[in-house]
Amino acid sequence: MKQLISSKVNRIDSSQIQKAYKLSSILKNPIDLSIGVPFGNTPQSVKNAAIKAVKNNLTRYTPPQGIDELIVGLFKELKTKDKLLIKNKGCIVVTPGVTVGLLLVFLALFEKDDEIIIFDPYFPIYLQLCNILGIKYRLVSTYPDFQIDIQKLMTAITSKTKAILINSPNNPTGAIYENEVLTKIAEIAEKHNLILISDEIYKDFAYSKTQISIGSIYENTVTLNGFSKSFAMSGFRVGYIAGPEEIANGIKKIAPYIYFSNPSISQHAALKALETDNSSIIKEHKKRHDLAIKLLSPKFKINGGEGAFYLFLQAPNGKGDEFIELAAKKNLILLPGSLFSQKKTHFRLSYATSLENLKRGIEIINSLVKL
Ligand code: PLP
Repeated sequence: MKQLISSKVNRIDSSQIQKAYKLSSILKNPIDLSIGVPFGNTPQSVKNAAIKAVKNNLTRYTPPQGIDELIVGLFKELKTKDKLLIKNKGCIVVTPGVTVGLLLVFLALFEKDDEIIIFDPYFPIYLQLCNILGIKYRLVSTYPDFQIDIQKLMTAITSKTKAILINSPNNPTGAIYENEVLTKIAEIAEKHNLILISDEIYKDFAYSKTQISIGSIYENTVTLNGFSKSFAMSGFRVGYIAGPEEIANGIKKIAPYIYFSNPSISQHAALKALETDNSSIIKEHKKRHDLAIKLLSPKFKINGGEGAFYLFLQAPNGKGDEFIELAAKKNLILLPGSLFSQKKTHFRLSYATSLENLKRGIEIINSLVKL
């Protein structure tokens, strides 16, 4: 009898996320500090643009690389704000979210024996995409301070390394990499002829540090970003890739066979988002960031946490999985560090929730920590 499903499926490790879902599914009206989407609603102007697109019958297929107005708008923004070294609008591809963007980049870049360097803790999709596609990855730990140790990075580079994947502000640690470190990484990439893949989806959520886009100092960088977090638009599914034209062209060749067209209505909404001020969204998250740090600092040493909307904290006795079970018994949902890491010592808290919920959740966390 032939196997019903391919080996690709069996290579996906979903055990940690299933454990977390199972734990939370038995709770009634829990305090949820596991959320990966920003607090608050999509800006009204963006919602209006989506409604207008429907009314105007902008409801058909679009070019796979995205509608031209959005690409032109993105090019202008990425050149002026992020100062990316991209040459023309042909270097940009709109994707159905950064998730699909990552899939396309991986498909476009990697041959069978190529290796990618990923920092641990990581956004789980990075590893699972590698597993699905059969890409070899090398993990470089950023514990305990969640900054990149250049020496450790250098030891991970082999003759097979093709790319380094960076994510700053980081999910799950909230760390923002120092500009000097990014400069060093760019130098290393240049020396070893590597491609940098930079997931900047939390770029706007930087509270106590500002950060350059590494694509502004190193040309062979593929930058990924999107509207899910910055404009609370995760359901619209709009992201984009910006990088060297040759890579963008490769991605454009693959894209039609993966998704044919980006969602039309969402792209018109994203076009409006480009001219919308999102500072109130960021301000609300800074408020929560400051409150979480203030309330947790007496009991936890906080590493990272300068951006995004997460804190990655070491559980008492380094038992992260146990800690989230204890929290669940008190009706609080957190995510286990083991979902984001080879280590099981930490847990992730998201402060993208109401101030009231955040205070109640942190009270429970602190009550579980005996100093
Ligand atoms: N990259 C990181 C680091 C994320 O945390 C997320 C979502 O949580 C994504 C990418 C996915 O973004 P999108 O909604 O654009 O697919």
